[in-house]
Amino acid sequence: MTLAVRYMTARTLETAPVEFSEPGPGEVLLAPSYVGICGTDLHIFHGDMDARVAAPAVLGHEMSGRVVRVGAGVEGWRPGDAVTVMPLRWDGTCSACLSGHQHICQRLDFIGIDSPGSMQQRWVVPASTLIRLPDSLALDRAALVEPTAVAVHDVGRADVRAGERVVVVGGGPVGILIALVARAAGAEVRVVELSAHRRLL
Ligand SMILES: [Zn+2]
Repeated sequence: MTLAVRYMTARTLETAPVEFSEPGPGEVLLAPSYVGICGTDLHIFHGDMDARVAAPAVLGHEMSGRVVRVGAGVEGWRPGDAVTVMPLRWDGTCSACLSGHQHICQRLDFIGIDSPGSMQQRWVVPASTLIRLPDSLALDRAALVEPTAVAVHDVGRADVRAGERVVVVGGGPVGILIALVARAAGAEVRVVELSAHRRLL
């Protein structure tokens, strides 16, 4: 058994022992170290996504952790490796996938929403979802890789160049990450934020 945080119903999470299986072929058993709480997780917690989320549901798709065991046929990963998980699985056969839009696959499995996530002590995922973390990146920060990837994508789409001026409207977690990524790209960045509370952070 392992301990998991489970969404039960609106505004109700519980910590409970749950069964965990050994990793099957092509799968890896992880020990999550840190898990971020996404805005989507808050929507689920508030009961706003009950039509999609089947309770009890183990949430969590922003994470860092280490490999515990690998299943048959898994190569390139060893116990102790530091990893994060790319939490999307697509079928590769629907019209969305075939036109290159796997992220809106008609049978998308958003791990941590549509299938069990990382808010548990042991977690089995397909080895194909693993992203190796460098030793130089602390695991608490590494839990932010997934939302940071969103920011990297956005800054890339905006084609931000060194020396340009960038205004980020909204200083929430993703806005702050976009500002940091744009700054790392060499831009001069300003963040516009109406909330006095958020401006203080
Ligand atoms: Zn598809």
